[in-house]
Amino acid sequence: MTRQLYEFNGGVHPEQHKHASTRRPIAIAPLPKVLVVPLRQHIGHPAKPVVAVGEQVWKGQTIGQAEGYVSVAVHAPTSGTVTAIASHAVAHPSGLADMCITIAPDGLDRWIEHGALDYRNMDPSHLRNQLRELGIAGLGGAVFPSFIKLNPGAAQKVPTLILNGAECEPWITCDDMIMRERAAEILAGAAIMRHMLRCDEVLVGIEDNKPEAIAAMRAAASQCDFAVEVVAVPTLYPGGGAKQLIKTLTGKEVPSGGRSTDIGVATFNVGTAYSLHRAVNHGEPLISRIVTVTGNVHRPQNFEVLIGTPLAELVRLTGATRDDTSGYVMGGPMMGIDLASSDVPVVKATNCILVKSPALFPPPPPAMPCIRCTRCAQACPADLQPQELYWFARAKNFGKTQEYNLFDCIECGVCTYVCPSHIPLVQYYRYAKSEIWAKEKDKKAADLARERHEFRQLRIEREKQERAAKLAQKASARLTGATADSPDDSASAAKKDAIQAAIERAKAKKEGITPRNIDNLPAEQLQEIAEIEARRARIRAMAQDSVEK
Ligand code: SF4
Ligand code: SF4
Repeated sequence: MTRQLYEFNGGVHPEQHKHASTRRPIAIAPLPKVLVVPLRQHIGHPAKPVVAVGEQVWKGQTIGQAEGYVSVAVHAPTSGTVTAIASHAVAHPSGLADMCITIAPDGLDRWIEHGALDYRNMDPSHLRNQLRELGIAGLGGAVFPSFIKLNPGAAQKVPTLILNGAECEPWITCDDMIMRERAAEILAGAAIMRHMLRCDEVLVGIEDNKPEAIAAMRAAASQCDFAVEVVAVPTLYPGGGAKQLIKTLTGKEVPSGGRSTDIGVATFNVGTAYSLHRAVNHGEPLISRIVTVTGNVHRPQNFEVLIGTPLAELVRLTGATRDDTSGYVMGGPMMGIDLASSDVPVVKATNCILVKSPALFPPPPPAMPCIRCTRCAQACPADLQPQELYWFARAKNFGKTQEYNLFDCIECGVCTYVCPSHIPLVQYYRYAKSEIWAKEKDKKAADLARERHEFRQLRIEREKQERAAKLAQKASARLTGATADSPDDSASAAKKDAIQAAIERAKAKKEGITPRNIDNLPAEQLQEIAEIEARRARIRAMAQDSVEK
């Protein structure tokens, strides 16, 4: 029986340009002259270096260990010598450098000792920790640490597992090719996911413009010892977005600000499933991935590339650089990021290197004023009001952008694509998001500094009171002719009484100067005042505790 499919709002049909890079099979990229491995390759905290310059490393050796909860390790992609641990250009829209470990390969490609994990008989948390140490993260774009997504949580299970093979963005074909060539290994990864999440059903969603991949996955599914449904979904950008694919396959909507597991669904990219299989069934950390190199090149192709391979070396595998090359994009034309230079390494997130030329990617026409045509809203797959978000972001009214669910925007670029005024809308949303994040970071830092300051003030006050109490005690002892060996209990009681009295005085004084002109303030400010007062009360209680101890 054919599965019922559901539609998500909007979407567009940009030109595909996929055939160029699917004519040749995946090639193994040769060992580069140098490997530059960034410590920050995933969402969350960067890894911490655990090797030193001059140290010999083996292929698969941990060179950066996970730090903090949302983090995974990074590994040496081959054997060689660590030549630098320093800032290096990386693939980031800001063009800023980041900490990287540079390795000069020795050409021997010697592996560390490694082997399969008996995942069916392992304690689940130990298995997740192993995946963290093996550096497994999502390869579909967000690079979220997989061990977190593979935790079924309090519900103990996630009923539906979806492998995402939709790969909707133009030019990119790495998922298409891995499904054509390594379908059985992808499903071996799905078996591990299914075990970890205790799933009832496994679905693979593939856009119907990839008939070879659909056939290969169906053939592999027929050999599985569990049911796998390979579903052809309509080719419509951004049908490969996690929320959009979930809607298409199940009819369910991920709630705003929520996660897919809230509705019992886990989604993983097919490349992630493949790397999970390599990690668990072979003990190999994530040190390579499939990358599409296409656009303004002589021989577009997919390569299996070591993480850390310089982009320029990778592009050279497709032939000499063309004279009219005008730049490089990591990812596709809709969601990719323009790279400031070709001196950046391949990272876990690098699904495609798109080489630009003015003929293939002419500069966009100048932006015109918004004419309120609402085409962007009709096309937005996240059901947002892009034109309103644009106005609020432009006016720096970030509170309003949040009210209009800015953070549900998946930055798919559909609104920009359809806008007749050629407004670079996504750039405004990225700007607004980064401003909000920066503001929140500043607020947290300011709160922390204020708490520290208030605690220090209270400590100083407490010490003053203690000194006063001691003086009072001495004076009282002199008056009563008491000797230095007066009973400890009465001295201590007198001290506590004096301190308590001083604290009460300070409290009364403080309350006396508490502003009372808050009656007409808006709810937001009242909430903020309440939070500050609660924090102060907490600090006072802490100070009080430390007095009483
Ligand atoms: S598509 Fe462009 S011009 Fe039309 S409403 Fe949206 S932002 Fe304005
Ligand atoms: S970029 Fe954001 S606002 Fe624009 S269409 Fe995509 S989800 Fe909607």
